[in-house]
Amino acid sequence: MKQKINKAFDEHFSGAGTIYVAPGRFNLIGEHTDYNGGFVFPGAIDKLMMAEIRPNGTDKVRVYSLDLNDYAEFGLNEADAPAQSWARYIFGVCREILKRGGKVEGFDAAFAGNVPLGAGLSSSAALESCFANALNDLFNDNSIDKFELARIGQSTEHNYCGVNCGIMDQFASVFGKKDHLMRLDCRSMEFEYFPFKPEGHKLVLVDSVVKHELADSPYNKRRASCERVAKRLGIETLRDATMEMLDAIKTDITAEDYFRAKFVIEEKERVLTVCDALVAGDYDTVGRCMYETHAGLSKDYEVSCEELDYLNDIAKECGVTGSRIMGGGFGGCTVNLVKDELYDNFIATVKEKFNARYGHEPKIYPVIVSDGARKYEE
Ligand code: ADP
Ligand code: MG
Repeated sequence: MKQKINKAFDEHFSGAGTIYVAPGRFNLIGEHTDYNGGFVFPGAIDKLMMAEIRPNGTDKVRVYSLDLNDYAEFGLNEADAPAQSWARYIFGVCREILKRGGKVEGFDAAFAGNVPLGAGLSSSAALESCFANALNDLFNDNSIDKFELARIGQSTEHNYCGVNCGIMDQFASVFGKKDHLMRLDCRSMEFEYFPFKPEGHKLVLVDSVVKHELADSPYNKRRASCERVAKRLGIETLRDATMEMLDAIKTDITAEDYFRAKFVIEEKERVLTVCDALVAGDYDTVGRCMYETHAGLSKDYEVSCEELDYLNDIAKECGVTGSRIMGGGFGGCTVNLVKDELYDNFIATVKEKFNARYGHEPKIYPVIVSDGARKYEE
């Protein structure tokens, strides 16, 4: 990838710039917890966005996307937003730095990545973090702190890309650390690194390549259920709820709201259980919690779908240590923790069985937990 980028940069702009990378992310556990003030538990992965960048002494940005074979040129004022959606991520990062009083001047860039687009591994956060970190280094002497870099990425999605996302993806892409996951408290925004060295296991994402578009905005309905229960309990978010509290009001709320809240409360506990298990190196418990999360997302929170439940069933049959839906649900990937000796059989079986039922193979992305956004060193 680096050679390709060097070559493209030289062809378009002649010479060479500095190379920066930023990763995509996965989330081990902690789903639908962010908007309930709970914990998420992501890690950066070894799939990256890579950009070669050099200030050009003008007030124009010139960028070449190798993967899309497309070129964009834009100024740095609010009115200069480029037409191409991929370039708006970069324009947005520039604008958000400027809005915060940071410095950005014209630059040339060529970039490419191997984070699959739209698979739930957050290629967009990788793109934002890569440029945010690079522009911090090139124009701001790294004076913008890392949390602000993540917020710059998040604001880019909100203000320039029409995606109303949380902070997890950009946070993980910026703060990622090899062999560690990060437990982020979505209420206080404090975080802690936990060791993740699943020796004897592989981590693999299995992408169903389906995305069910649902008419009645299920995400907003889930949120509304959580908010109703929290209000009934007289607390701000379900972060402060326990199963005892929920059971005490069971007869006052709908069965649907009860099961939604039950999932959120149990999921918060599961994240804490997984943290203890990781410290103890107990990956069987980690795996068990992953299956519990899947069951909860499927039966209580009802955000699974037939294809994801089937992937989960196949994982169970193949003796996979842990498997669950990753992300919001209704399609996308499962994340799987698989013993080395079972890996080849699992991959072959999941491809064959899924294909036999749905007419296409799932995509397989093995991942290794890796470092966050940084200047590239050989
Ligand atoms: P994801 O879940 O992968 O973040 P998004 O839809 O949020 O999916 O972001 C994907 C968008 O990010 C793409 O449509 C494109 O605009 C931009 N993008 C991601 N990766 C690349 C890439 N390698 N080259 C150019 N643009 C990219
Ligand atoms: Mg995205």
